Amino acid sequence: MPAPYPWLSPFWSRLLGMRQRMPHALLLAGPQGVGKLQLARGWAQSLLCEQPRQDGEACGECEGCHWFDAGTHPDFLHLTLLEKETREGEVRMATEISVEQARQAVDFVQLSTYRAGYRLVLIEPAEALNTASANALLKVLEEPPINTVFILVSHQPRQLLPTILSRCHKLEVGLPDMTMLQGWLRQNGLDEKALAWVSGAPLSVLEARDDGELEIRQELLDALSRTKSLDGVALAESWNKQVPARTWHKVSYKWLLDLLSCALGGKAGFNPDYQAALSGLARSANLGNLLDFVRREAESGRWVDHPLNRQMVMESWLIEYGRIFEGGGR
Ligand SMILES: [Zn+2]
Repeated sequence: MPAPYPWLSPFWSRLLGMRQRMPHALLLAGPQGVGKLQLARGWAQSLLCEQPRQDGEACGECEGCHWFDAGTHPDFLHLTLLEKETREGEVRMATEISVEQARQAVDFVQLSTYRAGYRLVLIEPAEALNTASANALLKVLEEPPINTVFILVSHQPRQLLPTILSRCHKLEVGLPDMTMLQGWLRQNGLDEKALAWVSGAPLSVLEARDDGELEIRQELLDALSRTKSLDGVALAESWNKQVPARTWHKVSYKWLLDLLSCALGGKAGFNPDYQAALSGLARSANLGNLLDFVRREAESGRWVDHPLNRQMVMESWLIEYGRIFEGGGR
């Protein structure tokens, strides 16, 4: 089984080459949406495969590979964020990997391996370890039992405790170069402009497309481009019903940042496909009002989790947005 995505090939070769000199703990660090988790899983499978090919890749057919694919390999443990129920009975995603989970990993690595090969613990995202869970793991990270490898995946490696970082061999998986992405984007019916929307992270653009975010974005931005005919009350009413809170927050905030960038003589970094509209709007914007608005939005984000107020907050956003173009212009 080759690299999970074409742009990951160089990292894939390095990982396969590590068989000669296995680290106790490997940290895959880099921005979200570049495929670090898929890379980590692919490598884990190659290590658990019972008939790896000569280059070290997993065969995809042995019992180890079948178990891995089914998510039931007894020598593989995946520590990640779990859903939990709040006191109000709501199910939410935890924000931390708990100390109980960490202890489960410590117990797991003390067992003898089931298939007499490697025993692997994948921790993702590693920045979700809190102080207690990180401390619980320190000892086994430092001196893991034989044939045990920890694989940490982190979008925010700076948030990891130095004691954890210092025990890991680090592999940086950065944003891929455009030349490596062109073919893949075309195959998926996407282009460079869609990629700009997610700051260059290829898997994020797939997610945005599949969630319908790209389509909603276009609808919102078409409306925000036409400030002359903007009816804040009607728009807020219809968007409140159709647009998920997080999508609205993302679209409206990135639009403001692009508008500010254009007003300051720069370019539309997130929405290059709306460059002409943004340049036009920037010319008629009151820079003071725009700066104020961006600053307040940067501090807020507060309403995202308050769906009851959504329509009102959206309405007031649209009113303030309209005000940017009052009494401005050069
Ligand atoms: Zn196999």
